[in-house]
Amino acid sequence: MTPTPRLVEVCVFDAVKKPLTYRAPDALSLSEILGRRVIVPLGRRKMLGVVTALDAGYSGPVRDIDSFPDLEPVLSAAELEFCRFIADYYLTPLADVLQSYLPQPLSARLNQRVAIPSHAALIAAAAAGDPAAAALVKLLGSRKQLSAARLSELKPALRTSLRDAGLISLDWQVKRGRLDAEMLQVAATLQEVPPDLKSSVTRRLLEQLIAHGPTDLAALRRLTRTSAQQVFAAEAAGLLSITEMPPFFNPPAAPRDLNLVLNAEQTAAIATVTATISASAFAAFLLYGVTGSGKTEVYIECIKSAIAAGRRAIVIVPEIGLSQAIFYRLAAIFGDRLALIHSRMSAKSRFEIWQRARSGRLDIVLGPRSALFSPLPDLGLIIVDEEHDASLKQESPPPRYHARDLAVVRARQLNCAVILGSATPSVESYHNALAGKYRLLELTQRVDARPLPLVRRVDLRRSFEKRGHGYLSAELREQIEVTLALSGQAMLLLNRRGFAPSVHCFACGHKLTCRDCDVALVYHKIRHGMLCHLCGYTEPYPDSCPRCHSNLFLYRGIGTEKMEEELRRAFPDVPLLRMDLDSTRKEGSFREIFEKFRSGQAKILLGTQMIAKGFDFPDVALVGIITADTSLELPDFRARERTFQLLTQASGRAGRHNFAGQVILQTLYPDDKTVLLAQEHDYKSFYESEIAERLELGFPPFVRLILVAVESTDAAHAQKIGKEIRDAVHGRLTGLARVHGPIAAPIHKRRSFFRFQILIKTKRIKTVLKLVAEVLNVPERQTNRHQRVIVDVDPVDMM
Ligand code: ADP
Ligand code: ZN
Ligand code: ZN
Repeated sequence: MTPTPRLVEVCVFDAVKKPLTYRAPDALSLSEILGRRVIVPLGRRKMLGVVTALDAGYSGPVRDIDSFPDLEPVLSAAELEFCRFIADYYLTPLADVLQSYLPQPLSARLNQRVAIPSHAALIAAAAAGDPAAAALVKLLGSRKQLSAARLSELKPALRTSLRDAGLISLDWQVKRGRLDAEMLQVAATLQEVPPDLKSSVTRRLLEQLIAHGPTDLAALRRLTRTSAQQVFAAEAAGLLSITEMPPFFNPPAAPRDLNLVLNAEQTAAIATVTATISASAFAAFLLYGVTGSGKTEVYIECIKSAIAAGRRAIVIVPEIGLSQAIFYRLAAIFGDRLALIHSRMSAKSRFEIWQRARSGRLDIVLGPRSALFSPLPDLGLIIVDEEHDASLKQESPPPRYHARDLAVVRARQLNCAVILGSATPSVESYHNALAGKYRLLELTQRVDARPLPLVRRVDLRRSFEKRGHGYLSAELREQIEVTLALSGQAMLLLNRRGFAPSVHCFACGHKLTCRDCDVALVYHKIRHGMLCHLCGYTEPYPDSCPRCHSNLFLYRGIGTEKMEEELRRAFPDVPLLRMDLDSTRKEGSFREIFEKFRSGQAKILLGTQMIAKGFDFPDVALVGIITADTSLELPDFRARERTFQLLTQASGRAGRHNFAGQVILQTLYPDDKTVLLAQEHDYKSFYESEIAERLELGFPPFVRLILVAVESTDAAHAQKIGKEIRDAVHGRLTGLARVHGPIAAPIHKRRSFFRFQILIKTKRIKTVLKLVAEVLNVPERQTNRHQRVIVDVDPVDMM
């Protein structure tokens, strides 16, 4: 009998999307191979990949695996299964999923390294008769170091024993800089541009850096349209320096209130979750707690329960800014058993955290969505804070996953607990809780029975009629004065950055729009330029109208820069801070603003939605919502829900500790139901009206959505491919789904691409996904030079 060839499935990085089959070496048992990185031949090249399945059935000719850069798998069988789920559900090739799941350095040719922490200890152990130590000493000979390949000559049992005894450790060491240019930051080394500088490119680079301070390399290149080589050349000439970007914000540990006594609702919630953790069972909890009800305290106690049970925890937060605020509180308790991980860190730092997590040196990993992929052993608890938040959904690159939904999948797979927390749960999650899929934990009261803030509505249209008021209504102005007189602080929300959201010609009405997108250019006064918020395109403020050459322009609407001016005029002596994407771009500026406001040095904090969530400032008595309901008009079935969430979250920043809370809600829609319910903090009525509408119109949670977008620089071509896909999908999905479109996307043109959308609604998602994948597998319907086809399952961004 001929021995069966030992065939395995390998996903190759950066090459073919389909898994390939290779022959495994005889020396290794199959179970030692799964999840390991391999070098395999592909054509005439050697490629890196991961073994994703054993015993592959294949009868064609196969080639041998070339080598193994590591001694052990980088993915466990459970993790592989999870990746496969992500690939199948979000219609993304498994190889792409693996590449975003694994830390970036592992997609590079990087060998695992054997470190011997103490040669003395090793020799002592060998002398004492430890067979593993003796074998290693022999293998080492006169060498000090050993490659992973050499170490693999030892039997697995001996290697394990060496590792358990701490005589060796395995890790990967990453060189800096080589990996990802986008993690580098550039700063000018001079105060001014040398007068004799010849190159206009370098001049532009320097002017930008001198005016705006350190900038990340990728952003700088985009802004100045220069190549990396040109930047590196300027570095070589000593004109600028390039360094690794520091962590966004690295706060000191917060002092903690030790006298805090948990209330009955908190205690009950903690007990319920703890019971699940002790039972090592799966359960998903929706922690619906009004703003300031002490949800974070519940998280903390549940994490403690998990650690006490010998398990570990992942905490997912929507945005980097918010992760900082929570990190602040958790670090005070968990110290260096906690790590924060986010995309503004260098790949090197993130990889180090991944390694610490994997080797059990961390109990908690905290961060935005991809923190879910942290390889913590013995995971006992996953927390998703602000589970309703849109930024939990990854938009690009694929997989376009929802971190909340995947957290539940992962928890079920590992038999652990998952807590989804929010003061304004998503309609989907609350529906799941009422249907018994999630268990509902409620915190109905603010801590210490503090009342929720009193919200007053102000009709902005009336304010506009009064001279000299506009966006700063008489009521808001008066309440700011009262607040300041009582030594309280005020937070003012305006979810538009820049000076004016659009600029129009006074003579002919022409609106200035982006060259590459069909949206208005936003006027940024501070940099005296026009900026596209979609693609980043900038141009100087125009001298004259491109259509009629008149030179009078009209600003429409208001942004944070303009509001800042108005506030400074109204309150000339009051220290005021502005927090938005522009004011926090510079290194450390987020932290500076945060600290200045927290310590009371500044009295007014004006900001975009960045300030609406999560912050817990004790002296904030007043929240003013300048306008936040412009989103009500967006053509998106979640427009009302988003607005309700934003209004409620922003209001929730008021009156959390030392002052009673007050909110002035300025609105252009004073009679709108969503605005009225937000004013009353009436989540449940809002949910009732929303769920009724979703049922009637056929939207989630009653159906699942798949959004297929076709984009091309040629509008007619995009529409044509869109129609083909629609017809093909329609043919395959009769009786299984409703197919709408193709229609022009709400943002019809983005980055020079015209966009059409097809919306699929179904109750049979699994079956439909398979069929959609088949339809899109036709080469003409895939992404190529002329078109992009993007499939978004459970889409969040409908624009
Ligand atoms: P949420 O996340 O629900 O908005 P937080 O967890 O931020 O609320 O809690 C609000 C504030 O109340 C925090 O400063 C927290 O330390 C404090 N706090 C939480 N629970 C209690 C309690 N039982 N007694 C007193 N203060 C508490
Ligand atoms: Zn004009
Ligand atoms: Zn644009």
